[in-house]
Amino acid sequence: MQYTKNPLSRGYANQILTLDLTTGKIEPQPLEEKVRDYFIGGRGLGLYLLHRRIGAQTKADDAENPLIFSPGPLGGVPQFPGTSKCMAVSLSPLTHLPGISNFGGHFGAYLKYAGFDALEITGISKTAVMVVIDDFKREIYITGAPEADEVFDLEKAVVQKFCDEGYEKKNMVFLTSGLGAANTVYGCINSHYYDAVKPVEGTKGMFRTKQAGRTGLGTVMMNKNLRAIVVLSDYPRGENPYGAADWNKVKEAGAKLHQVIKEVDPQSLKMHRKGSAGLIAFMNKDDYQSLPVKNYQYGSDPRAGQICGKNYAETLFDHRGMDGCFPGCNLRCTKGGWVTLTSGAHKGRRVWVDGPEYETAAGFGSNLGIWNPEFIMEANWYCDNYGIDTITAAVIMAFVMECYQRGYLVKEDTDGFELTWGDEQAALQFIHDLAYRRTALSSIAGLGMTELVAWVGERYMSRTGGSNPRKELGRFAMQAKGLPFSLYRTHRSLSMQASYAVASDIGAHHAAAWLIKVDLLGAFPTFEAKAKALITYPRVRLGNDNLGLCKLPWVDVFNPDSGNRKDTDIYINPASQEIYADFYNGMLGTDMTWERIYEQTDRDINLQRVMNVMTFGERTGELDWVPDRAIGPTEGRLYENEKDYNDAQVGAILNKSLEEIRNMPTFEKRRILMDHRKKELKKLISVYYAERGWNVSGIPKVETLKRIGLWEFLHEDAKSKILSLNEEKPTPGGPIRRGAYLH
Ligand code: SF4
Repeated sequence: MQYTKNPLSRGYANQILTLDLTTGKIEPQPLEEKVRDYFIGGRGLGLYLLHRRIGAQTKADDAENPLIFSPGPLGGVPQFPGTSKCMAVSLSPLTHLPGISNFGGHFGAYLKYAGFDALEITGISKTAVMVVIDDFKREIYITGAPEADEVFDLEKAVVQKFCDEGYEKKNMVFLTSGLGAANTVYGCINSHYYDAVKPVEGTKGMFRTKQAGRTGLGTVMMNKNLRAIVVLSDYPRGENPYGAADWNKVKEAGAKLHQVIKEVDPQSLKMHRKGSAGLIAFMNKDDYQSLPVKNYQYGSDPRAGQICGKNYAETLFDHRGMDGCFPGCNLRCTKGGWVTLTSGAHKGRRVWVDGPEYETAAGFGSNLGIWNPEFIMEANWYCDNYGIDTITAAVIMAFVMECYQRGYLVKEDTDGFELTWGDEQAALQFIHDLAYRRTALSSIAGLGMTELVAWVGERYMSRTGGSNPRKELGRFAMQAKGLPFSLYRTHRSLSMQASYAVASDIGAHHAAAWLIKVDLLGAFPTFEAKAKALITYPRVRLGNDNLGLCKLPWVDVFNPDSGNRKDTDIYINPASQEIYADFYNGMLGTDMTWERIYEQTDRDINLQRVMNVMTFGERTGELDWVPDRAIGPTEGRLYENEKDYNDAQVGAILNKSLEEIRNMPTFEKRRILMDHRKKELKKLISVYYAERGWNVSGIPKVETLKRIGLWEFLHEDAKSKILSLNEEKPTPGGPIRRGAYLH
């Protein structure tokens, strides 16, 4: 169909696009002013659109479950660094909760340039299709997809098709997924964009990818039989092309942040050389013990240098070109390199790998006991090519490896296959098996951690005749709300434990409250400071997700001016936040402080909670917990491994000298330590509920939802659910049983 587009105004196209793949109906709709001004964009708008479509009974693979892409009003503005982000939102097939994943590249920007603030796709197509939004011809259509199960074959076919039709590569952006997304519930979506300056094979220019990895949204895409979404567009031209209220203010803010990055990054983290994998060295420090090693059992290893950003920068990353995932980002952290594959159908082929980023390097590296950087790149490439989330796959593999270590799995359970620490070829085999759902083990592992734990427990029982070890397995099955952990070992950061347990409503991911680094640096010395951080940091972080912004230019580039600020949390980088406020106010024509801008995020944080309550009802609070392994040593041997630190903590708890503590039996000390930490975490979660205006069971109070204005946007089912759970009554079955998810 043909469509019309509005000129961009204050960063908005003021139109959303809905498509139904069952009926083929394509319908551009105005973006209601009231909705726009309340939910802002990105994650907030995506969640609202999701809420409008689904009820408590909706399943992720139902036709009515929408797959939504939403960039945000500050996305796609190359005059400011890091405006590359777009949000993917849908009901997650992995957690059965609203699933959200942000991704970089050019897709969100081009979607907006083409005339849409959000794209909402419902229905299920009978055949494999591709959606095309052609800004040049002002045409939207659904057409047959090229036949290709693997992402990079599909990439080639899509690019060829549109080149044949006369389009330039720089005008094509598209999303894809692959067979691994169809065969698991944690598929990722690849965001393809053209990097015109990367030198390759004697010429310049190649397609590169970023991923929306978390919560299985690639699986939703494959369930819909949707193989690719293509936007053909170009940058808007002319003076003030995004319709900013004050274009000079926007440009000045961009120039300021640009300058901060230019001066600071080369002297500090060197993201432009190491990418985010540079973080491995920090997390691995002896004092921090926060790099997960062998399924989070240990927190550091002397071999970590082999998989850290410095080594990648010196041996594998190709630094030629710009390496920004969107024009204007001078942090340029999108690193990659060439590697020769050693396994699978493409064995022997030399391929370009975008990555690894920190999470993938730690996930396939230290957490599997593997220290080979090229192996990590191969695992990264195959996961992208199959359309599988690297974090989820890696953490599930670590759990399987620990099951072999502890005898919960033996070869006989898995048809002779064995996955043990450090075994690179078995690990690669497992990824291929997962993608093709080849074995009983990989088939069940493809359904997520919860199903895998149940399966291992049953296997163990039938082999040994013993009782079901499910509870024991739950102590080291690293998930919260069904989402496997991202790659931080949280023993030394109470605030990060709470972040995974409660501040991240999609499950154990760091997007909402990545507090571990500043917590380790001493930003939150008191319990009160930790509680406050659980409110303030998610506002900024998720606020960035509402605006279409990348977090790294403020998280990873400490503005020297922030260091001079008094009576404030300097770790949140207030001097840079003020630059972001100028950008926001310049674009939207408002006059707000950065604190006020990000307070608006409370709206979508509460909306997401309401939606979690729709799924889990009175059990919602039970899920606000993390496995024992995330809290501390799960056995005496692991306590002893960090004896000095743990003894000092036990000494402080009991108010006894180190001498006395050393003479105590390990099992007793470990019990005291774990009990204490669990008590602290419970207390922190309770304070978080109170600060948020939720009741003691973690249910938002009606008065809170009315006070922030969200009540009027909720559908009737949600209102009646919240009303019924707001009634004063004792929790059925007694007090909250935290962590009941797996037990
Ligand atoms: S900092 Fe990295 S991920 Fe963020 S926009 Fe820049 S290049 Fe992309």
